[in-house]
Amino acid sequence: MKITIIGTGYVGLVSGTCLAEVGNDVLCLDLDPKKIDTLNAGGIPIHEPGLDELVHRNAAAGRLRFTTSIEEAVAHGTIQMIAVGTPPDEDGSADLSHVVAAARNIGRHMSAYKLVVDKSTVPVGTADRVRAAIAEELALRGANIEFSVVSNPEFLKEGAAVEDFMRPDRIVVGSDDERATKLMHTLYQPFQRNHERLIVMDVRSAELTKYAANAMLATRISFMNELANLAETLGADIELVRKGIGSDPRIGYHFLYAGCGYGGSCFPKDVTALQRTAQDHGLTLQVLAAVEEVNARQKLRLIDKVERHFGKDLQGRHFALWGLAFKPNTDDMREAPALTIINQLLRRGATVTAYDPIATAEARKHLGDTIHYADSPMAALDNADALLIVTEWKVFRSPDFTRIRKELKRPIIIDGRNLYDPAIMAEMGITYDAIGRGVTE
Ligand code: NAD
Repeated sequence: MKITIIGTGYVGLVSGTCLAEVGNDVLCLDLDPKKIDTLNAGGIPIHEPGLDELVHRNAAAGRLRFTTSIEEAVAHGTIQMIAVGTPPDEDGSADLSHVVAAARNIGRHMSAYKLVVDKSTVPVGTADRVRAAIAEELALRGANIEFSVVSNPEFLKEGAAVEDFMRPDRIVVGSDDERATKLMHTLYQPFQRNHERLIVMDVRSAELTKYAANAMLATRISFMNELANLAETLGADIELVRKGIGSDPRIGYHFLYAGCGYGGSCFPKDVTALQRTAQDHGLTLQVLAAVEEVNARQKLRLIDKVERHFGKDLQGRHFALWGLAFKPNTDDMREAPALTIINQLLRRGATVTAYDPIATAEARKHLGDTIHYADSPMAALDNADALLIVTEWKVFRSPDFTRIRKELKRPIIIDGRNLYDPAIMAEMGITYDAIGRGVTE
C-alpha cells in the first residue's frame, strides 16, 4: 500500500517505519526541514530502542522516504495518516491547529480518493472537523473527490514504541464508512496474524478511547502516590502494599508504581484536555481533577525530602541527580519531573550535577547551563551532599553502593523511584529515603 505519514515525530516516525517494515511504500512528511535533513542523511532525530536499524533497512530498500514537500506527500499515499502534535492550548484543551492544517493541505492537493487516518490524540469531534476542513478546501477549488476520515488512536509507549507497534495489544479503529474499514483491515493485517487485534467502533468512541486509556493509567499512578504518602505517615511500605494488591488479577501489577509523579508528552496534556472537553459540555471530571492535583504535588515530594535532611535553605548545597528523561529508554524531556525538581533545587540556592544515559542533549535544551552534566553515574556524585534518583534507568538498579557511600559528603539517597531494598541500604550505612517507605538509616 502507498502510505503518507504527516508529522514525523515519535508516533509518525515509528508508525511509518513499522508500516514500511511489512512491505508498504511509505513517505513521511514533516514541516521541520532539520528533522527531514537528519533522516535523509541517515540520522535518527529521537531515541527509540530498535528504531535506527529499522529505519536504515527500510530506507535502503526504498520503502521509507522523507520529505518536506506537501504536494509530493499528498500525491503519494492513498492512506494519509495524520500524526502531528496536539499540544495543550492555553486553556488546557488540545491545540488542533496542526491537525487542521494537515487536513487542509490534503484537501488542497488531493486528486484521487484518500483515506485520512487521525492517529494523533484528538478530542471527540475532531474527525468531523478534519472532514469539514478537507471538504472546504475541495469546494474552494470546485473539486469533487471522494475521501474518508477514520480515527485510529495510537497506543505505543515511548521507550518500547517499535515493539508496541509491531505487536499491538489492540488496534482501535473508529469508522463510519465501509470502504475505509476494509482498507484499515488490510493495513493492519500484518500486525495481527495470530489474533484479531482490530476493534472497530464508531468514530467518537474511538476518539474517547485514547483519552480514557491515558486518564486511567494516570489515575492508577496518582492513586498509588497518594497511598504512598499515607503509607509513609503510617509506617507502612508502599512497595509491599503494591505487591499485595497487584497480585489480584482484577488490579494487576501494571502502572502501580509510586514515584515522583508522571510526566511525558501524553498523560499531563491528555488528562487536562479530557477535563476541558467535559467542561465544554457542562460536566466536571472530579476524579481527574484530583489525579492532576496529586501529580503536581508529587513532583515536589523529593524536595520535601531534601528539606527534611538539609533544611529549607539549600544555599551552598550540591546534589547529584540520576535520571532526567520522564521515563527510562527515551530522550523525551516533555513535562519530565526532573525539570520541576531541578528548578526547585536551584531556586533554593542549591547546585546540581545530573547524569542521564540518553537524555542529556535533550535536557540541555530545557535547562541550558543551569546545572552540570556528568558523563557517568559515579562522576555525578563528585562533591555532592546527597544523591537523588528521578528516572528508573536499568543502569541505576545495582550500583556500587560502597563507592556511593564514600563519594557523597553525607551518605543519603533520596529515591523517587523506589529502586533499592531499604534493608540493604541500612546494612551499607546509607540513609535511604524513598517514596512511601519511610526513612531507613
Ligand atoms: P512530536 O512532536 O514528536 O511530532 C509531531 C511532528 O509533527 C513534529 O515533527 C512536527 O514538526 C510535525 N508537524 C506539525 N505540523 C505538521 C504539518 N502540518 N505537517 C507535517 N508535519 C507537521 O509528537 P508525537 O509525540 O509523535 O505525538 C504526535 C501525536 O500522537 C500527538 O497527538 C500525541 O498526543 C499522540 N501520541 C503520542 C505518543 C507518544 O508517546 N509520543 C503516543 C501515542 C499518541
